[in-house]
Amino acid sequence: MIENGSVRSVCPYCATGCGLVVEVRNGHVRSVRGDKHHPSNFGSLCRKGALLDEVLDTPDRLLYPQVRDSLDQPFRRVTWDEAIAFAASRFKASIERGGPDSVAFYGSGQLLTEDYYLFGKLAKGYIGTNNQDTNSRLCMTSASAAYGMAFGVDGPPCTYEDIDAADTFLILGANIEACHPVLFKRIEQRKRGNRNVRVIVVDPRRTPTAAIADIHLAVRPGTDVALLNSMLAEIVIAGLVDEAFIDAHTEGWGETLAAAKRYTAERVARGIGVDAEDIRRAALAYARAGAALSLWTMGANQSTAGVDKNLALINLALATGNIGRPGAGPFSLTGQPNAMGGREAGGLAHTLPGHRSVANPEHRREMEEFWGVPEETISAKPGLTAVEMFDAIGKRQVTAVWIAATNPVASMPNADAVAGALRTADVVVVQDAYHPTETTQLAHVLLPAAQWSEHAGTMTNAERRVCVLEQATAAPGEAQPDWQIFCRFAEAMGHGEAFAYQNVEAIFEEFKQTTAGRDLDMTGMSYELLRASGGLQWPLPTGRRGGTKRLYADGIFPTSSGRARFNAVEYRPAAEPIDADFPFILTTGRVKDQWHTRTRTGKVKKLVAGDPEPFIEISPFDARDLGIEQGKLVEVASRRSAVRLRARVTDTMRPGVLFVPFHWSRLWSTETDVNRIVSGAFDPISKEPELKYTAVSIHRV
Ligand code: SF4
Repeated sequence: MIENGSVRSVCPYCATGCGLVVEVRNGHVRSVRGDKHHPSNFGSLCRKGALLDEVLDTPDRLLYPQVRDSLDQPFRRVTWDEAIAFAASRFKASIERGGPDSVAFYGSGQLLTEDYYLFGKLAKGYIGTNNQDTNSRLCMTSASAAYGMAFGVDGPPCTYEDIDAADTFLILGANIEACHPVLFKRIEQRKRGNRNVRVIVVDPRRTPTAAIADIHLAVRPGTDVALLNSMLAEIVIAGLVDEAFIDAHTEGWGETLAAAKRYTAERVARGIGVDAEDIRRAALAYARAGAALSLWTMGANQSTAGVDKNLALINLALATGNIGRPGAGPFSLTGQPNAMGGREAGGLAHTLPGHRSVANPEHRREMEEFWGVPEETISAKPGLTAVEMFDAIGKRQVTAVWIAATNPVASMPNADAVAGALRTADVVVVQDAYHPTETTQLAHVLLPAAQWSEHAGTMTNAERRVCVLEQATAAPGEAQPDWQIFCRFAEAMGHGEAFAYQNVEAIFEEFKQTTAGRDLDMTGMSYELLRASGGLQWPLPTGRRGGTKRLYADGIFPTSSGRARFNAVEYRPAAEPIDADFPFILTTGRVKDQWHTRTRTGKVKKLVAGDPEPFIEISPFDARDLGIEQGKLVEVASRRSAVRLRARVTDTMRPGVLFVPFHWSRLWSTETDVNRIVSGAFDPISKEPELKYTAVSIHRV
């Protein structure tokens, strides 16, 4: 923390993890610029990052703790001790009545790794419930599960430098131009600098990302597994599989081959809505590339077939030997700035620190020993994942919930049910930097949290790079760093000794020991080394110099056989397919200048200017058919509810598909909150909800 000068930090929006230089004048952040020396962005920033100074001193900053006994009462200002005591007494009452699983903790990919670690240590190691999940469940758990199934452990094998060496990009379900703009610039540069580079984009919308594609496959939403199997079938037919790699480094090829063969381009083309010849062109461009890099995000992950889509992408990479070498690999781009840190620190309902699993008795014992808690303190019962958690609150199976750094009433699918569930809870504690948000409005306890430049800690970006965010300025009012709030609460719950940290670095030093000898070993990292390098990629065990750019370069995978696993996958329709009553497919997403639920970017005039209000995109064909005119209001209804939005008629949409950005929630207007109509169905393995496919009807108002 400084009064005047500059400090290095990391952007708190997307998982690109751009390094920042923060200029401070008289104790306030005056400006932000890209850090030229940062190994992930080399000085580049998008507009969201460049305007970060404008999200700090807003009139809705939450400045001091507040409580109320019930939702019909106004909040009253209290001291920190009173607020924490209030929360602790209600959590204790819930636990006394219903046991540890009657409470739950819901975090965020915005939390720093140290915050995540403490949140989980308290919930799983001391309170004894695995009901700790995060909004990252909505983001990348499908990718995390698929990596585990294919490689034995979680973690993207690639590095951003692979973008500079790839010959063919297969971008699926990812509008990188809007959602990871700095990485998109790097892809454009690679394409501009080499005439032979090919870009294949799979997206039902003709997004700005698809605009640079050599082959744009505008598939019907939800059909990616059929497409990817079909590409594999065509690669086999063309004799382009890498048999030497398959023989030496993989297992399970036979079943995958048998499954894929049923998906020839001719067979699937009509069903998925693209030409067979285009599928073949894409398959050959991928397989003939010297190095092919697949990149994907929510279009693959947020689906009831999310894990299968990820596995199908990994199958393609394995079949063509596109892994472990420059420019090649299956690269899942995480969405949030520290979704990776949450995976590392055990921030999900099924995980423990150091990529351990709550389902594994040995992992539970290791963590009990590490934390010095009695045997069987960590429950063997799987915790509630995001959608399950809010369902359980609505059913009063969970009566006390702690929500940190996220706004689930706005971001969760089936939002009316989520809001209704919180209204029934005995206590809702919300730890946030702003009030009101859609979620703080339903809280009993409001705890003011520090923002990105007001606290220190580490985050891991999409290329496994761990970076330190320095504290630039003091937090306003009585706001505190998240880790300190968790420590206060832990003390009030009777576990003060185990949470008596002098500073955030001490938490990192403890956390990194949980990674010793594991796939993500970080024991060779320290704040000092991370600061000096601008960030290091795991694994980095003690004694080694420099991080690990690329995983599996030696062709050895951390499975029991040392081989990567093919996983045969089959196309499954969406959980709630279209029918005569709901004949359109609604897909949700983002716009370039807004971030999630707009608690920050919604206050920056320059970011709001491009898209000042919510809208729905519809194809000219459908608009004509339904008499819908540009800019006019339409009503969109699903099996849950209906919303009203202004129509944007655009030929970037394929007929039968509608698109709504999810940023504008009920604080803007209940009538436009698209998550009210989105289905809460989720993938059976990853439990990631199907935010990219909802059957709806649409008509003009
Ligand atoms: S690309 Fe992502 S990390 Fe970089 S400045 Fe933009 S939002 Fe921040």
